[in-house]
Amino acid sequence: MRDDTRRWIEADKRHAWHPFTPQDEWTHADHDPLILVRGEGPWLWDSEGRRYLDGNASIWTNIHGHAHPVINAAIRTQLEQVAHTSYLGFGNPRASELAEKLTSFFPEQTLERVFFSDDGSTAMECAMKMSLQFRMQTGAEDRRAFVAFAEGYHGDTLGAASLGGVSRFFERFRGMGPEVRFVRSLDELRAMPAEEVHAVVIEPLIQGVNEMRPWPAGMLRELRSWSERAGVLLILDEVMTGFGRTGTMFACQQEAVIPDFLCVAKGLTGGYLPLAATLTTRRIYEAFGGAADQAFYYGHSFTANPLGCAAALASLSLFESEGTLESLPEKIAHLSWRLDELRRDCPEVVDVRQCGMVAGIELKAGLGAQTCVLAREFGLLTRPIRDTVVLMPPLCVEKDHLDMAVEAIRRAARKAQASVSGGCE
Ligand SMILES: *Cc1c(COP(=O)(O)O)cnc(C)c1O
Repeated sequence: MRDDTRRWIEADKRHAWHPFTPQDEWTHADHDPLILVRGEGPWLWDSEGRRYLDGNASIWTNIHGHAHPVINAAIRTQLEQVAHTSYLGFGNPRASELAEKLTSFFPEQTLERVFFSDDGSTAMECAMKMSLQFRMQTGAEDRRAFVAFAEGYHGDTLGAASLGGVSRFFERFRGMGPEVRFVRSLDELRAMPAEEVHAVVIEPLIQGVNEMRPWPAGMLRELRSWSERAGVLLILDEVMTGFGRTGTMFACQQEAVIPDFLCVAKGLTGGYLPLAATLTTRRIYEAFGGAADQAFYYGHSFTANPLGCAAALASLSLFESEGTLESLPEKIAHLSWRLDELRRDCPEVVDVRQCGMVAGIELKAGLGAQTCVLAREFGLLTRPIRDTVVLMPPLCVEKDHLDMAVEAIRRAARKAQASVSGGCE
């Protein structure tokens, strides 16, 4: 191990604290975490000089690859002007352009307002508070309950976490946030007294943290018509699904649904910088137009950060100049083919789930974590959710990268199985 690597690992183990991580295991003497130092396209390099395919797009964020010259240049150009200015009391050019650009993906007079924040959780917090205040200012505050789906995930701040249905993360905090009721299906939702429901929140097309589980086709559209009839607001969490991940720019476009709130983050800047947005409609916006005490008193220090907005504009321009969405159907079909093959001939695979460029490969119980560690030997970097290995590379991957990733999972799963059954490969 290089001296630098050792030094970084030591400082990390001594002083840092990692997300979603049992620190005892992390800091254990036998655990040598990878220190990632460089990226280019779909590749990442660690501090020992080893190269890996970024199989989960750096926790579901990266879109066009790392160190893309166009995004890098946009950030540098903005940096030469100014890195950050306050959006509280001032505007900035990139934020104006980005707000206009984001609303242009939706029919006129629908999602025409953009509220910027920092990450997926704050985009959700913003939608929650904005929607509740909307109720207060339109005389319907008796509608208080949020409805969320079991096993859903919407972020970790206390408000967003209260919408989370993944019990191993959120159960201990139940009852500490706003009123939330959980349903497992649209039928369960329809059976509820709708007049008490304020808003329903969902990850459209596919639940991510719930081991990559797609919803039945048509479900989102049915949910939208139910919510319209019931007078319930619809909040779509497109933090994972936004920006081409499911094959269209936004997942909701596949079922021609326009929500009352649309939350985006992860891929907004191409995965380069933390920036998020909550899009909403004129109807919501206009309820905040009266006296000063009706304003939306919400914001963060780095709201509409110019570097983030510049990266986002560059990322969105690449969708056009590189024909990103147009390139996807072929890649998605290729991935399906490879995954079908894997399901058929890899005995460690229990199930394979896919929605566009997002895939979950469920392995036999107990194999997920070890398979992901072993996959590094075969050049793939990813993480499992329980025993489901996530495969969600940057959208710029080529077909042979997908082949390599699936092959790495196959070989790693075989090897993991061999080690638990004590045999050899
Ligand atoms: C990642 C994620 C979030 C939270 O976003 P952060 O940027 O981590 O706060 C919320 N919802 C979904 C669907 C996500 O995948």
